[in-house]
Formats: sequence, structure tokens, C-alpha cells
Amino acid sequence: MMTTASRGGVAAQGRDRAVNGPLNGPLLDVRGVTLQYKTRDHLVTATYRVDFEVFRGDRFVLLGPSGCGKSTLLKAIGGYLTPVEGEIRLKGETVTKPGPDRMMVFQEFDQLLPWKTVAENVMFPLVASGRLAGAAARDKARDAIAMVNLASFADSLPHTLSGGMKQRVAIARAMAMEPDILLMDEPFAALDALTRRKMQDELLQLWDATGFTVVFVTHSIPEAIKVGSRVLLLSPHPGQVKAELNSLPRDAAAADAPGLLKLEQKIHALLFSDAVEAEEVAHVV
Ligand code: ADP
Ligand code: MG
Repeated sequence: MMTTASRGGVAAQGRDRAVNGPLNGPLLDVRGVTLQYKTRDHLVTATYRVDFEVFRGDRFVLLGPSGCGKSTLLKAIGGYLTPVEGEIRLKGETVTKPGPDRMMVFQEFDQLLPWKTVAENVMFPLVASGRLAGAAARDKARDAIAMVNLASFADSLPHTLSGGMKQRVAIARAMAMEPDILLMDEPFAALDALTRRKMQDELLQLWDATGFTVVFVTHSIPEAIKVGSRVLLLSPHPGQVKAELNSLPRDAAAADAPGLLKLEQKIHALLFSDAVEAEEVAHVV
């Protein structure tokens, strides 16, 4: 709504920047972000001067090896960690604390409240945040549960559900809040391969239906290509940006096996070869 006033004079440059926020900038702007953990004996630098921009409707993937700071970055976007250097802005506003405009989905199957039913779990943030109450919250939850194909399990308790179903509930709970950004931290990593693929497909179908913005963390190259529209490659510890690239168009990813293999190999080389870094530096100089 706030964008309409400033929309007229903005020239579209590749992307439609006008729809993203009051400043016509990215929805999420991560600028020079260094994140550290201070333990009693150590100072752990998890990410070093990370830059990226996420635009509305992006399926933005953070890809990198275990320990490169993906979860830490996601937590910082969520407002649970403050950068020691740099800044994270959402719609132009500096992120300083968690908020219902950023909903998280984690890898763990135990992120649901075990004593609450599926419907109660999905309603919980709606009610707790004051967004909706009573029948309105129940209706919203019911719609979200239907979207993830769990309508007949609305009154079930989490322990009666499979891992995939629990993750669907977590996704429904986050989506019901209609956040500006969905933050997903390896949400399918603990699922068996077949279920994982099915969940990836379902997430993409959900995106087709609603066009949400998601920052999706994974250490799987095929998952990054399949789920992402854009992929940020992070180096091992401490996480630094190695490259950012577009994924394959959705239908191409399914049909173009050689193209898929080529992109996988390119990403692999970018992630694991230092020579590439030198090459990038040479380009800049
Ligand atoms: P990833 O999600 O990419 O596997 P993490 O963000 O979890 O990586 O961790 C990045 C680095 O920060 C790792 O070296 C990890 O050991 C360290 N780290 C993560 N959480 C903490 C913590 N609570 N205290 C100290 N160090 C941590
Ligand atoms: Mg992690």
C-alpha cells in the first residue's frame, strides 16, 4: 500500500523494485553483516561481511557447508542475534528484534507444542501476537492447514503425525501469519529422500499459489537449485559470500538434465575451489 505513492517515477531495472517496500529497495537488505558468538573461552566468527538483497517473491537460498553460518544468518534476520558489524534491514527498517513479520521453520520435528492439536498449534501465534482471535483465528488456521493438505488431521496431536506432516504443520503455522518473509532452516533435511522431494514440490506449489518470499537454508546443492530462484553460496567457516547466482527456471530444472548437471557442477566448483576466488578477484581488479 505504501509503495503506490512512490511508484510512478521508478524505472524498472530488470526486477520490479517498486513493489518491494517504501524505499523501493529490497524487501530484505543484508549489508556487511559479521556475526559472532562470544563463549567463555572463544570468540567465534560465524559470518564475515555478508551482503545480499532479497526481493519480494524471491525464493532465496543460503547454500554452504555445515558450520558456515547459515543458521546464524537466519537467526540474525529473525532478530535473535545482533550483527557486530553491518546491518540487516527489512522494508528499510533495521532489524533489532524478532517479530511476526519474519516466521521461522526449523529442521527439527519437535517445533510444535506437543500438548496442542494441529489446529491449536497453527492458531497459537495468530492469537498470541494479537493478530486474530476466536473464530477468525480458527478460520485462518483451518485455511492454512488445508493449504498443506492436512485438513483431516486438524484435531490430531503432533505425536501421531509423521515427520513430513509435522513439517507441514510448521509451514502452515508460519504461513498463517502472512509474514513478510518465511525463514526456513533446512526444513526438509531430516526427512527421508522421497518425502523430502515431495515436500520440496509442495513448497513450490504453495509458492505458486501465494507467491510468498522465503529465505531457505540448505547444504544440499540439488535442493538449492530445485527450491531456489536465487542462490547465495557461502564459503566454509567463517561464512563469506562466494557467489550469487540464479537458479534454473522451474520447468527447465525438471526437463533439462544436462543443464541441471552443469549448474550443480558449477556450484560445486564455486563452493569448493579457492581458484575461483582468485579468478573473481582478478575480475574486480
Ligand atoms: P550452519 O547452520 O551453516 O551449519 P551455524 O550458523 O550453525 O552453521 O554455525 C556457524 C559457526 O558458529 C559454527 O562454527 C558453529 O560452531 C558456531 N556456533 C553456532 N552456534 C553457536 C553458539 N551458540 N555458540 C558458539 N558458537 C556457535
Ligand atoms: Mg544450520
